[in-house]
Amino acid sequence: MILEQRVTVMLDEGLHARPAARLAQMAKTFASQVDIVKGDRTANAKSTVKIMLLTVKEGEEILLRADGADAPAAMSELCAFLGGGGANGTMAQAETKVETLAEAAPGPAEGGGERITGVCGSEGVAVGPAFVYLLDRTMPAPRRIVPSEVEAELLRFRNAVLTLCRALDEATVQEADGAAAADVQVFAAIRELAQDVELVGPIEERIAACQDAASATFDVGLALADRFAGIDDAYFRTRADDLRGITRRLGDILLGRRDVDLGAFSEPSILVAGELSALDLARLPMHLVTGLLTTEGGPTSHVAIIARAFGVPAVVGARVAIDALRAVRSLALDGTAGYAIADPDAETQARFRQKKAEADEARQAVERFAHVEPRTRDGRLIEVAANIGSAAEVDAALSSGAMGVGLFRTEFMFMRGASLPSEQEQYRTYAKVLSAFAPRPVVIRTLDIGGDKPLSGVSGEAEANPFLGWRGIRMCLDQPDLFDPQLRALLRAAVHGRLRIMFPMISDISEVLAAKASLAACRAALEAEGQDTGPVEVGIMIETPAAALCARELAGHVDFFSIGTNDLTQYTMAADRTNARLARLNRVDHPAVLRMIELACAGALEAGIWVGVCGEAAGDVALIPKLLGWGVTELSMSVSLIPRAKKAVVEYGQGVAAA
Ligand code: PEP
Ligand code: MG
Repeated sequence: MILEQRVTVMLDEGLHARPAARLAQMAKTFASQVDIVKGDRTANAKSTVKIMLLTVKEGEEILLRADGADAPAAMSELCAFLGGGGANGTMAQAETKVETLAEAAPGPAEGGGERITGVCGSEGVAVGPAFVYLLDRTMPAPRRIVPSEVEAELLRFRNAVLTLCRALDEATVQEADGAAAADVQVFAAIRELAQDVELVGPIEERIAACQDAASATFDVGLALADRFAGIDDAYFRTRADDLRGITRRLGDILLGRRDVDLGAFSEPSILVAGELSALDLARLPMHLVTGLLTTEGGPTSHVAIIARAFGVPAVVGARVAIDALRAVRSLALDGTAGYAIADPDAETQARFRQKKAEADEARQAVERFAHVEPRTRDGRLIEVAANIGSAAEVDAALSSGAMGVGLFRTEFMFMRGASLPSEQEQYRTYAKVLSAFAPRPVVIRTLDIGGDKPLSGVSGEAEANPFLGWRGIRMCLDQPDLFDPQLRALLRAAVHGRLRIMFPMISDISEVLAAKASLAACRAALEAEGQDTGPVEVGIMIETPAAALCARELAGHVDFFSIGTNDLTQYTMAADRTNARLARLNRVDHPAVLRMIELACAGALEAGIWVGVCGEAAGDVALIPKLLGWGVTELSMSVSLIPRAKKAVVEYGQGVAAA
């Protein structure tokens, strides 16, 4: 039984040390799991420290939640205490404002540590060891050392450089065994930078002038990174990120901070993180990640998208203080229900294993739809395609029954390497994906960085509103040195299969015309050089309200639309897709968003072009009938959702036919 009550805390000076300890003592006398929720943070009421970290003041309202057989008794006693009625007070005596919010069906209590609630990032259940990736970003204040300490401080700094190089050597050997050539280059390049005289020299000079090694490292390293960031060449600017990484790692070694590096992720574990950048994700060994728990992100953030692509259960936007996560050793995580239990006891672990077995069984039941050709009742063949972020995902996509690629997010390949991929490297990747799927179609989206996918050195200065800023096609049109090599690589690769090029973040017809003009110029240049190029279809993403509202006009200039419901939802609802607090608004099934989708579809049908959906809504079985009804003929989604979506298409036809 789960009970929840709002309580205004009437304790003198709030839940400071003593009342917190008293409350924890009282909570421990109940078998139920008891939590206190303040705003977006939750604390286990059986832990004095956790209660104190919530900093609840007198007169503040909190939510008390009890989950277990003795929840009513726990609720009554703890509410009375919090309301100022003393340990043995009753609710009637206490001046509490109490209101019952929810009563769930009885269920077994989940024991162990804290219950951490978030939102579903990716369905499924995981239980096992946790890998905690929480970086301490605080900068040390400069400290003066006395001249007699200089020699020892210099030695400490040189040892730190050696420690870093040894760690990079080990990583290089491991990666070489794993044949990830791009990563070997990354590590080798970083190793070189770490020993570069431009970095090491000025740091040693500062130490010789009596500055401590850690702050000297941060001062010099970050200033050098800023210099790289200012270079007027996208390829060199990416080194700024490497330099910041080296500086942080050296600084951490000097400060004795535990080195949390995703490279150390070497055993199957559940990854626990605050924010995971697209760069972190690109470098993460996903085959070892059994689950994901992040405090940032929403259901359509890139963390969630990547988790779904790899079928990894994920809880995102977890409402928990970062400090409470640092000590977590293991987790039981339910991605579907959007919560996790920290350090679960044996009984909880067993229950989660059972849930996992049931979820696996349910998945297997839809697997038989993976290779059907899904048709609607009027005989329309619906293309159920895959969203991928690298050529490495092609095999998984094919075996899940993908009938093509509906969205290849190319930005991840730009984030992975030591430098931006050259035209030739891009050509090889695109050709590989196109040949693997030929004669099926492959939609390759041109670079869509910015927003929650910044690319250091390319994205430019930090912006006040990155999602409303210089991203996607806006940035590419301004940077031909970035855009043209991609367009050339695409045109050359087109000879290997059926290529559809798609431009992201379109909000105005002028952008479509300019992008098409760049494409035509690249084709003319290639032909003049005597290079082979293939035919392509050209389409755009409909992911801004402006594009949806002007769909009819835009449709006259392209071969297809693909509706990006993730961004279309955040822009229509004015609700940041990465902000878990806004999950209530960030809903693709909101009437405003549905109207936008319907408008886009109507615009496409009127102009006689085809329309697909490549946002996460494409895999939402509750929405598929609506999308098909509006004329969508292609649905592209995370690979793990394909069989279930095909089943929904097939059943939609049957259901309507029978009606
Ligand atoms: C979208 O916005 O729906 C989309 C598919 O693009 P991305 O998620 O990469 O922004
Ligand atoms: Mg988008």
